[in-house]
Amino acid sequence: MKMLILLAAAAALSFPSLAFAQAPVADRAAALRDAALAGDSVAWDFVEGLTTEVGQRQAGTEAEARARDWAVRRLTALGFANVRIEPFEMPVWVRGEERAEIVSPFPQRLVVTALGNSGATPPRGIEAEVVGFDSVAALQAAPDAAVRGRIVFVTHNMQANQDGSGYGPFGAPRRQGPTVASRKGAAAIVVRSIGTDHHRNPHTGAQAFGEGARPIPAGALAIPDAEQLQRILARANAQGRPVRMRLVLTPRYTGRHQSGNVVAEVPGTDPGAGVIVIGGHLDSWDLGTGAVDNAAGVAITVAAAHRIMQAGRPRRTIRVVLFGAEEVGGGGSETHFNLNRGAGNVVLVGESDFGADRVWRVEFSLGAANAALGDRIAALLAPLGIVRGRDAAGAGADLGIWRRLGVAAIDLNQDGTRYFDYHHSPDDTLDKIDPAQLRQNVAAWTAMLAAAADAPEPIVAAPVQPAR
Ligand SMILES: [Zn+2]
Repeated sequence: MKMLILLAAAAALSFPSLAFAQAPVADRAAALRDAALAGDSVAWDFVEGLTTEVGQRQAGTEAEARARDWAVRRLTALGFANVRIEPFEMPVWVRGEERAEIVSPFPQRLVVTALGNSGATPPRGIEAEVVGFDSVAALQAAPDAAVRGRIVFVTHNMQANQDGSGYGPFGAPRRQGPTVASRKGAAAIVVRSIGTDHHRNPHTGAQAFGEGARPIPAGALAIPDAEQLQRILARANAQGRPVRMRLVLTPRYTGRHQSGNVVAEVPGTDPGAGVIVIGGHLDSWDLGTGAVDNAAGVAITVAAAHRIMQAGRPRRTIRVVLFGAEEVGGGGSETHFNLNRGAGNVVLVGESDFGADRVWRVEFSLGAANAALGDRIAALLAPLGIVRGRDAAGAGADLGIWRRLGVAAIDLNQDGTRYFDYHHSPDDTLDKIDPAQLRQNVAAWTAMLAAAADAPEPIVAAPVQPAR
């Protein structure tokens, strides 16, 4: 009964009732969780608005600047305090034309997109023989003479799974392939897209040429096109015929331009209790509208912080950061850390950057003295179907730096089964987001934040594990 009254209070009022404000922390957190699950619209409105009014937001471009202005307006309208931009400069790479075709023995077009920081072909492209490899290790092991002057193709066998653990190992063709191919004198490289769909949508993504590696044209083939090329190579090689490809990739650098983070706060009542920092990244790749990666994560954390704010001032300040330039190397993460490491005592970080599907697992890197806090949060999340994992939380690309330097983190792991169908592809659009799963995310984040922000005990971090 008490819960019903609290739920009604949380759902119906935009200001805290006295009874609600005085309820035990866990009851308040449960009521806020249930209200978010039943009716959050802030997250959907945020992701719908950002992807519709701004669309793609590639780092350092005028589109990302428009996204910052949009976010400042929206966060201010939602009532957040200390809304501000943390600007920084970065070199900006933009794609140009992109075409691939098999010239012989089976002439046909293939769908390709340039990887970040790809070198350029001449405007009319290059034509060369294709040499294929099953992995970066196989490319590495090949004699340079087998690669020199050729277009390297590297495939992989990434499969969809819940925790996204394939992205690290199977991402090697994109991350290391271009550098290895360049050092061996390749004319260019194309890789099987780092994705799990079977549509003719290529997946772009960051790569950086290592020391001594001349930038060469580097592209990703859509997965059906990569499989087609594998069949063509196998058949042609069996017949003793070379496969020749024409490749046109004309990206370029436009110079140094401004990027930036957008920061907003829910001020706490107890400055000595420390600050909780949460968020996601505002920039996106340019092919889709960055709905799943990562308007959703930004929207989820904004909506959860907003729910805490609407319920009354929390004990701890909650800082929401919408990072710039995550996709292209994380200049936003570093800038935010450098600007804020001395400002207030950050005691907990959490990042949402794995799409919009439901949270299925929670992991902690709280200190032993916070065992009870971890138990309370896990109990609040269990009704949402969330299990407790055994690994230590590490936050993500933007907030992981805090954890690595000894701050506590809580990870709310999302189901990644569909994530790499859309990630960095033209198919990353609003229609891929399930509003009910988005609300479940907001509910989970709201419950976690409510419990952590108002925890009466100090928040302490687990010791940092040495990197594996
Ligand atoms: Zn992302």
